[in-house]
Amino acid sequence: MKKELKIYTVAQLCEGFVYSRKERKGLYGLNGRLTIQPEYQRNYIYADGKQDAEVIKSVLNGYPLGLLYFNKLPNGKLEVLDGQQRITSLGRYVTGDFGILDERKVPKYFVDQEENKEKILNTELLAYECEPESSDELRRWFEVVNKHGVEINDQERRNAYNSGPFVTLAKAEFSNSTNSNIQMWSCYIKGQANRQDFLERALEWVSEGKIDEYMRRHRFDNNIDELKTHFEEVLGWIERVFTTPRKEMIDQKWGEYYKNYKNNPEIYNTTVFNELVERLFADDRINHRKIYEYVLGGCEHDEILNPRVFDDTQKAILYNRQTTEAKEKGISNCPDCVLEGKANKDKIWTIKEMEADHIKAWSKGGPTDLENGQMLCIRHNRLKGNR
Ligand SMILES: [Zn+2]
Repeated sequence: MKKELKIYTVAQLCEGFVYSRKERKGLYGLNGRLTIQPEYQRNYIYADGKQDAEVIKSVLNGYPLGLLYFNKLPNGKLEVLDGQQRITSLGRYVTGDFGILDERKVPKYFVDQEENKEKILNTELLAYECEPESSDELRRWFEVVNKHGVEINDQERRNAYNSGPFVTLAKAEFSNSTNSNIQMWSCYIKGQANRQDFLERALEWVSEGKIDEYMRRHRFDNNIDELKTHFEEVLGWIERVFTTPRKEMIDQKWGEYYKNYKNNPEIYNTTVFNELVERLFADDRINHRKIYEYVLGGCEHDEILNPRVFDDTQKAILYNRQTTEAKEKGISNCPDCVLEGKANKDKIWTIKEMEADHIKAWSKGGPTDLENGQMLCIRHNRLKGNR
């Protein structure tokens, strides 16, 4: 299914708006190009002085109205798949069919909105225009949209708001699933071309995180040279610096590393540098995801390696602390046995019968220190690990 994000202003959507009071339905918008209530749509139900008024209040407050979904027909005409309640409410308001009550319960019509008229008319709505390949696909899609909508991500939104020659060229390079470079890119970047993940990273790297600003500035450029060159530079740099490809390379902050560390002289002694990397990866106690940042930064901040397991000294301290306290209270030294309240609720386990546990999981950034550590009986520790 082909799909494209488009932006329409309220003024455009309501151009040539026709509302049938008799049938209580919005018929056309976009100057006749848009059928607001095609046969398969449910009826317009917002004409209750509440829901329709809420739509207008949202516009006046600058709240987003959510995505619209249009079905694009072969003749170029559009049908509303989702959004007819909102569009019809906007159209009825702009054409003076209803007013919203002010604090004194006096209806305020569009013509009364001297200072807000422009704001209302210039409000932008995002619409997905889709071309299903068959009526079956249309029906399936309709069900999905009506159930929970299709999520739109940040980069898809940016592409819509900055549509123009730059986005077209950038998408042809980075969002094209048939680009043969994708396999190589996927060694460093997690994601899918058609969800704009590679494009987003390329933009993030070249703009040092200021993607929106960058896209606005380049919106009408007829080339993507800088974007492409910088992206290739970063990837080339990673390949030169690190001789062994590893799964941990995926989704590192490569743009940042390149910017901060490309001139670090230590990395140019490739052999010595990569021996160090190998040694660190061989050590199972440390956080492998952090190794690149650590070595590129000149190995200055040991704490970022954050060991994954507690050492024997830490275990002994935790064990003694818990066991002394448990004996005083007459409860088990495994806090989970106490919670469980069964036969082992006052059992004192030996240190060999216990294992060290991260209270906040290590995988979620919980540090391997005494503050975040506790001893659990082997059974409870394994139970926690399996959750
Ligand atoms: Zn236990």
